[in-house]
Amino acid sequence: MLKHICRLCHSTNLSTLIDFGKRPITKRLLISPTLPQSAEFTYQISLNVCRDCGFVQISDAIPQDELYTNYVLSTSWKPQPHLKDELDELLKNRYISESSFVVEIGCNDGIALELLRQYGVRNLLGIEPSRDVAEKAAESGFMVINDYFMEGKADFIVTQYGKADLIICRQVLEHITYIDSFMHGIQELIKPGGTVLFEVPDFSIPLKYGDITATWEEHVNYFTEDTLIQLLARYGFRSLILRRYNFSGGALCVFAKYSSEKFSSFRLVNEEELNYILCYPQRIESFLKKVVDVLKEEKKGGGKVAIYGAGNRSVILLNYRLKEFVDIVVDDQPEKQNRFVPLCHLPILPPDELIKQHVRVCLLAVNAENEESVMQKNKNYEENGGKFLSVLSPSAYLIGKNELKEQKRCARNL
Ligand SMILES: [Zn+2]
Repeated sequence: MLKHICRLCHSTNLSTLIDFGKRPITKRLLISPTLPQSAEFTYQISLNVCRDCGFVQISDAIPQDELYTNYVLSTSWKPQPHLKDELDELLKNRYISESSFVVEIGCNDGIALELLRQYGVRNLLGIEPSRDVAEKAAESGFMVINDYFMEGKADFIVTQYGKADLIICRQVLEHITYIDSFMHGIQELIKPGGTVLFEVPDFSIPLKYGDITATWEEHVNYFTEDTLIQLLARYGFRSLILRRYNFSGGALCVFAKYSSEKFSSFRLVNEEELNYILCYPQRIESFLKKVVDVLKEEKKGGGKVAIYGAGNRSVILLNYRLKEFVDIVVDDQPEKQNRFVPLCHLPILPPDELIKQHVRVCLLAVNAENEESVMQKNKNYEENGGKFLSVLSPSAYLIGKNELKEQKRCARNL
């Protein structure tokens, strides 16, 4: 077997943090539950940690074409209240003006480009590998290159339009197996002194709460504040501003300036920090034990349990541990209703089934920022004696949250 190489520091000193065994692709909801499990696409997956720099990663990723071809869900159905704040920050700090040339890598259906256009920025270009959403962005009048971005791909853009004043890259870097090539491409594309805005999921949150649902097959890189800043420094970007947002389990946003010089040598992880990461599997087990104990108690006397949300985090949780304690899955999106969860084959139904089926407890598996609106929409369920509890960090309603001791965060000041 080939030795794995850390995507961040290039060390080969990696070890397995969690071996998940075989998992399905979480987005492939089933039309029928009759398909034998052996006929479903699964893959062997494990989470590794670099013992030198502490970067957590999935080394053996599913091939991109398997994951992203005909990627049908666009980003805009999911509200992103923090997006405006990020773009306001760009304006406030004069990182862009109306004449700036802005490139967004992974522009999806153009939600951020649209906001920038409303702000008066005219020179906008999107790069998006997924055809369906790239077409949507193009229909909105944006120049879009339907391709993956990597080293060498910037030549055409630079020749045609010049170098970029600002590169936006939101919720992309965690998907990239070829980080070196990707960052070299950004170096080719950006002006000296130009700005980058990187947004990634904040792994320090699931790490703290023992939340396994962050370990999604589409995310091969798990950044904390520390590792994101180190990565940028390695390619000549000095991080200037960091923002955290309560979005999709926690998002980290860094604004950095390109100085074309490496100004930081790689910091090795210390024993305490490494130990904290190595204890992640124990925190997962401890959290899941609490959840299972609650569900066992609720199911005494035949009470039913539901899970709200059929997204990737819910599918991971069900197949990893909770399937035998959950009776139904409910979801607001009509396109997911009357389908079945891959592997465990639980039915996905509309939320009114919570009352119809006399569900005793409903586990919220929606992102924390959406929980209040879900509970508000389903007030009748609670008035009928139902109960909501959360299973996704960093929810205020997370099972066992009050018992969680404040843990030391592995973070530094910028
Ligand atoms: Zn490393």
